[in-house]
This record gives sequence, structure tokens and C-alpha cells, in this order.
Amino acid sequence: NLTMGIVGLANVGKSTFFNVLTNSSVRAENFPFCTIDPSTARAQVPDERWEFLCEKCQPQRRIPAFLQVTDIAGLIRGAASGQGLGNAFLSNIQAVDGIFHLVRSFDDEEITHVEGNVDPCRDLDIVSQELRLKDIEVLEKKREPLERLLNRANDKTKKAEFECINKCLAMLQEGRDVRFGDWDSKEVEFVNSFTLLTAKPVVFLVNLSSADYVRKRNRWLAPIKQWVDSHCPGETLIPFSAPFETEWQAMTPEARTAFTAEHPGVTSILPKIILTGYNALSLIHFFTAGADEVKCWTVRRHSKAPRAAGVIHTDFERGFICAEVMSYEDFHQHGSEQEVRAAGKYMTKGKEYEVLDGDILLFKFNA
Ligand code: GDP
Repeated sequence: NLTMGIVGLANVGKSTFFNVLTNSSVRAENFPFCTIDPSTARAQVPDERWEFLCEKCQPQRRIPAFLQVTDIAGLIRGAASGQGLGNAFLSNIQAVDGIFHLVRSFDDEEITHVEGNVDPCRDLDIVSQELRLKDIEVLEKKREPLERLLNRANDKTKKAEFECINKCLAMLQEGRDVRFGDWDSKEVEFVNSFTLLTAKPVVFLVNLSSADYVRKRNRWLAPIKQWVDSHCPGETLIPFSAPFETEWQAMTPEARTAFTAEHPGVTSILPKIILTGYNALSLIHFFTAGADEVKCWTVRRHSKAPRAAGVIHTDFERGFICAEVMSYEDFHQHGSEQEVRAAGKYMTKGKEYEVLDGDILLFKFNA
């Protein structure tokens, strides 16, 4: 199960955000180390296609897709050298597959800032630097025995790995994350095997005060955008407000309607955050749909049909014969399986078929 971890300095709003995500009741407190135990939540991935299928099939069970999210204890400057929760914290990040990097962009005298004042770009520098320092440490540990081995013997594969390590180290020492490297397919395999923190995809979440979120203004947004564009080109930045989301969650549907009437265009951005995390992990889902159940099944993008079948049941993968495929668009357009068949768009696919996001599947298998 691929997971996003929430990472950031202490007191930036991680627990508050996590609580909103899970709608759980863990208390957020003004104390830097209150979120020591990484706790995991499952947040529903919004999907209008799934809702349409439920509407159409009226099944007994309706099961959406979920994004798994872990809250990770607050990081402080010097974590890589063992400060605070230091290394424990960094190994919790090792266990996740992608990062929600949460940064504080709200002023509040009551809430201690571990660095003394609010400065999101400096905080982004601190956290990303700690992650690189940890990667450097990991790589240097791998490098030593390889170097000794290569002094004794000439091993082609080990030499390639050694060179890849050096390339990673050079990048990191220049302040660049390894995911932005130019890797050939052989190197990609090595880099993946190193399980580096800076190889993980990042979604940047900027935590604003509720007031700033509602008026869509905050003096830090432009500099943060610039920081992300120059350090992490192509990665997404989402301004949100943990307290606003908390308030929103507590509102009745009527209160929400009234609020939106007063503040046009202002609504919860949580669904977008969840979907962006899901996409960052390269997750997609296919559907199984019938009268008893409409369900989303999550797989990695580019998964072949037998692998996708295996998500439902290992027997399906082992005894895989074929997959019957209807695209969601065709189903939506024609309105029923019969009509999709009549239009000649109902397909039978073999084990090389790459499952697409939104496919409606039925597997045939040998029991
Ligand atoms: P964590 O240490 O990163 O998990 O931070 P928490 O979620 O525990 O938040 C620390 C404190 O800041 C709590 O008292 C929150 O209620 C408060 N807080 C979180 N987000 C905001 C915000 O946007 N504005 C204000 N004023 N306080 C916030």
C-alpha cells in the first residue's frame, strides 16, 4: 500500500491537517513533539465517475478509492545529525512513498515557531537540506564497502553502482534532490534500490490562516512559488488552511451553502490535495461494478491486467485468463454494458493489457 507522509517542521499544522484528513480526534497541541507516533489514515479519493457508477448501479456496497497518509513527527534543523527526534524521524520518511511537505505561512504569536519567526522559504530550505543530508549519509555508507571491493576486484556492475552513487552524492552536495537527476534506465534501477528520501515525489502544502485562505492573499505565496519552481520544477504547490478545513468540516451543508454565497469561490481544497497526492504516487484505479458492489481498485500506473487482477484476489492473478474491459467514458456515453457491447466497444484483453485509469473490468480466471 503506497503511502504519503506529512513532513515539515514542528508546529506548522501537520497534526491539524492530519486530523482533518482522517476526521479523527487526535488532539493537536502547541508542543513541538506531540506527534511522535506516526499514525496512518485513509482519506477518500474524490471521483465523480465512481459516484456516477454508484448512481447507475444502486449497489449494496459503495467503496471509493483511498489515499493512505501518515503523520510524521516534526523535524528540526540538525535532524540528520541526530537532533530532536532526528534519525527516528528520518527513517519514518524512508517508509513512505511520497511526501506532503507542509510549510507554515501563518502568523500567530501564540504558536511557537521552532526557528523563532515565520519564514517559509527558510523552512523549505531547512527541511529539504535535512533530507539531502540523510541521503548523503546513507550513500556514503553504501559507498565505502563498494570502494574497498573495487580496489580488489574489477566488477562491472559494482562499478556502475559505485559511479551512480558518486553521481547522486555530487548532486546532493550541490543542493539538488536526486529525483531531478538525468538518469538512464540502468541508473534508475540503482537509484530506486538506494531508497533515498529525495527520490520521493513531493507535494508542497502551504498552510495559511483561515482569513488569508478566504481572501486568497498571503505575502509568502509568491516567494514560495518561486522557491518551488527553482528547486523542484514541475512539482505542485497547494495553498490551503488547516484551520479553515477544520471549520469547513464542522459546518452543516446549509452552513456551507451560506458561506459560499458570502465568499464566492471559497471552498474546501482537501479533495484536490488528496487527488494530487494520489497522482504524485502514480496511482490510478479501475472499477468493478455490479448490483452488489461498485468498487475502486487502486493500482500503480502502467500495471498489466494480471497484476491488477491480483489486487482483487491472488487467485485472479495466478489463474488469469483475460480481462473484459469497458472504458468509463464509453459506459458513460452509452449508458449500459449492453449498449457498449452493441457499439462494439466492449473488449477482451490478454495478459499484456495495461490497465487504464477508469477502466471498468471483469476478470476471467481459472480457479
Ligand atoms: P504540527 O506540530 O506540525 O503537527 O502542528 P499542529 O497541527 O499541532 O499545530 C500547532 C498549533 O498551530 C496548533 O495549536 C494548531 O491549532 C495551530 N495551527 C495550525 N494551523 C494554523 C493556522 O493556519 N493558523 C493558526 N493561527 N494556527 C494554526
